[in-house]
Formats: sequence, structure tokens, C-alpha cells
Amino acid sequence: MAVPKKKVSKSRRNLRRAHHALPASAYVECKNCGELKRPHSVCGHCGYYREDMPVLAQTAAAES
Ligand SMILES: [Zn+2]
Repeated sequence: MAVPKKKVSKSRRNLRRAHHALPASAYVECKNCGELKRPHSVCGHCGYYREDMPVLAQTAAAES
């Protein structure tokens, strides 16, 4: 089994882990009701997607 040649110092270990933080999730305001929603997705609050795609909005509203 491969064994590390040198002990990794706390500083070096922490420098490596400096890149491990998760990015914050993206949210935008729904144009229709102002509720926060994920971009490019149907609004979970009012079912609105886009003005030029009313069919999507209607099906989402019918499901909820
Ligand atoms: Zn909405």
C-alpha cells in the first residue's frame, strides 16, 4: 500500500480544504408573485414559468 512520505501540516491540510466550501444556491425572484425560486424552473408558489409559455404555467397550477 502506498504510504505518504511526509506528515501533512495543519496549515497545508487547511489550505487544501480552503476550496471545499459549497457555493450558495442561486435564487431569483418570480416575476409573477415575487417569491424566490430557482432560475429556469417553474415557480413553486404560483406555477409561473414565462409569459411566452403559458401552457407550462397552467399545467403547474393544475398539479398544485
Ligand atoms: Zn411565482
